[in-house]
Amino acid sequence: MKQETNAIHAGYDREDGQSAVNPPIFLSTTFERAADGEYPLGWQYGRNDNPNRAMLEARLGALEGGAVAYAFASGSVTFMTLLQALTPADHVVAPDDLYFGIRVLLQDVFVPWGLNVSFVDTTDTVAVAAAMRPNTRLVMVETPSNPLMKVTDIAAVAGIAHDAGALLVVDNTFATPILQHPLALGADLVVHSTTKYLGGHHDATGGIIIAREQTDLSERVGMLQRYGGAVPSPFECWLVLRGTQTLPTRIRAHGANAMRVAEYLEGHPKVEAVYYAGLPAFAGHDVARRQMDGFGGMMSVLIKGGQEAAMSVAACMRVFTRATSFGSPHSLIEHRASVEAEGSTTPLNLLRLSIGLEHIDDLLADLEQALDF
Ligand SMILES: *Cc1c(COP(=O)(O)O)cnc(C)c1O
Repeated sequence: MKQETNAIHAGYDREDGQSAVNPPIFLSTTFERAADGEYPLGWQYGRNDNPNRAMLEARLGALEGGAVAYAFASGSVTFMTLLQALTPADHVVAPDDLYFGIRVLLQDVFVPWGLNVSFVDTTDTVAVAAAMRPNTRLVMVETPSNPLMKVTDIAAVAGIAHDAGALLVVDNTFATPILQHPLALGADLVVHSTTKYLGGHHDATGGIIIAREQTDLSERVGMLQRYGGAVPSPFECWLVLRGTQTLPTRIRAHGANAMRVAEYLEGHPKVEAVYYAGLPAFAGHDVARRQMDGFGGMMSVLIKGGQEAAMSVAACMRVFTRATSFGSPHSLIEHRASVEAEGSTTPLNLLRLSIGLEHIDDLLADLEQALDF
């Protein structure tokens, strides 16, 4: 089936839900054994498994084209579990521009634990190849990256990782499975914060990891999911499953609005630079055109006049909401460096924009009045 159809149907069989068109929510944390002691339908205990979680894993597994998927309580704990599935003597290659919280976990938790971590510019394949070591187990890529929107060539980095006997994991949160298919490009694992576009409405926190095929590493992630228990609630699984139904349509609309906003901002005298893969002048444009089916709804903008000018633009917005996160119908704007706090390498005049689904004329007018203020 095509993505649009999978987004609505994959993972839910109405026979399992009393014929309800939308699945019921299974709140029970425990399931009855049969007389012989077996669990007739496989369900046992809420931490180990739950029908709503299984539906979500099946649907997102289908959208990414993976063999297995494990859902978690947040995108961050998904990464944390993947890193815990390694052994401390392993080496990990991580991007120099990656989601700030994951960098904190690597530096403050996993390096003290013993994990060897190299931060490299993953858009530079020579640098990635040079960073590989005999004990490199995992290469991490985030593309487009947060917040610099850097675009990494997934197929090229997959080749480098595999030549060195390592696995490649791609954070596909910005692109979603509608615009980018990391597993088809050679990645072994895909991670999402489902808090963003997959849930799509800023009302559920979650994460998921999807593996192209079951490996020792992905089996260990599954073991940590069941025994560690950083699992999403049935209701949050249900919300994300509902959000996926409109994902293909939402993503196209986010992208159409974002292209118009990027073109407008690129020509504005108060804007120093626009980081958006859809702009032909942007460094990552050619790779993005090759490996993506569109450029998505996220961009970053450098405002002339430094941090103060950037903060005052954010403060003047009326339609855009000044808030962190992204991927919902609401357009959001944020001064990224102040969210990231100490240790941030983000330019002080950078604003990150999540382009929502409001009318484009209202979004452009809002930006115009804020930039002219
Ligand atoms: C938000 C985000 C995360 C972390 O996910 P949470 O659900 O907030 O824990 C990881 N990677 C990227 C690219 C993100 O945007």
